[in-house]
Amino acid sequence: MISLRNLFLQHVAQTSETPIGLEVERAEGIYIFDHSGRGYLDLISGVSVSSIGHCNPMVVDAVRSQAEKYMHLMVYGEYIQAPQVEYAKELTNLLPSSLSQVYFVNSGSEANEGALKLAKRFTGRTELVGFVNAYHGSTHGALSMMGDEGFKNAFRPLLPDTRHLPFNDIESLNQITSRTAAVLVEPIQGEAGAIVPTHKFLVALRNKCTETGALLIFDEVQTGFGRTGSLFAFQKLGVVPDIFTIAKGMGGGMPIGAFVSSKEIMECLKSNPILGHITTFGGHPVSCAAALATLRVLVENSYIEEVDSKEILFREQLIHPLIKEIRGIGLLLAVELGDAAMVQKVIRACFDRGIILDWFLFCDTAFRIAPPLIITKEQIASVCKTILEALDEVNG
Ligand code: PMP
Repeated sequence: MISLRNLFLQHVAQTSETPIGLEVERAEGIYIFDHSGRGYLDLISGVSVSSIGHCNPMVVDAVRSQAEKYMHLMVYGEYIQAPQVEYAKELTNLLPSSLSQVYFVNSGSEANEGALKLAKRFTGRTELVGFVNAYHGSTHGALSMMGDEGFKNAFRPLLPDTRHLPFNDIESLNQITSRTAAVLVEPIQGEAGAIVPTHKFLVALRNKCTETGALLIFDEVQTGFGRTGSLFAFQKLGVVPDIFTIAKGMGGGMPIGAFVSSKEIMECLKSNPILGHITTFGGHPVSCAAALATLRVLVENSYIEEVDSKEILFREQLIHPLIKEIRGIGLLLAVELGDAAMVQKVIRACFDRGIILDWFLFCDTAFRIAPPLIITKEQIASVCKTILEALDEVNG
């Protein structure tokens, strides 16, 4: 009989020369179990998705009961579906009053596409400003805003009228002008290796956008849903965007994304002169039910409040001669080794010890620590001990 692994390599289009290749049987809490029953501690949350752990019982129940009622009915926005409405109400109740409307899509890339189109439509301008080393997704618009030439070059020509500024550089912000429709920025750059800008930079960016009439879009796809110690990073950083985009942790493991803005800005997507953004599956009722359960789990427990103290535990315990620096905020951390080959060896050594780690798309000299927020202090102590052992082994 052909093994599942061989069938995977034969029939499933591959995205990497070296996939992790874990043959998964089931997942629960912070663990993923392989077919032999071995548990792997998921220290990356499937890249910042499983923030409340895998298969949270509240999410599983919500999915099951919504799937029994109805699934897809009609393209987005035509029918009144309780899971969408309740989610939009409960989410926006937790936000500043200017951010009162939610437009549901299916992924982070799509959320960014929608937000960029919304800004172009609202301002009547075309120029889009992004930042060096930014990651916003795989679709052409999101790719155009990506701040890494290597990734983009194979796909040119991309969107015209885009410009990339150095991140965290206040002086370059004078390139934002009254021609600029929007500035798209990750409040903390994820794939660049958890780069935290200064508060001064974000305030200057906010002021420049207000002054020029450009809309400020925060991509919170990776930073959202508690990862940085507040529901959204902008709430911790104290700078309110005009639009922000979400996905990943939003659905507790189900695919969903959204862009969020004011009623006034969203209004222009209705028909001006044609519909602004169409999606068949956006706001899928089962995904919205999962998202609602996820939000309630986050709000009703103290996971988000505990993020800061868990960050400190990682920082205090991950001390090793190979570690040059730990960047990031909350449970979005980059452990910098300054050596890509070493990072690969550590990831392998940790995997052999039952811990799943990863590097960053634009920073292969650091490994990522972004565990489910539900990880306990005891689990952090045990995982740090294992990482230190792996570092010792690699250090020879
Ligand atoms: N924005 C950011 C900041 C991301 O980290 C990602 C995914 N890594 C995306 C957008 C794209 O999300 P998706 O893969 O769901 O399209």
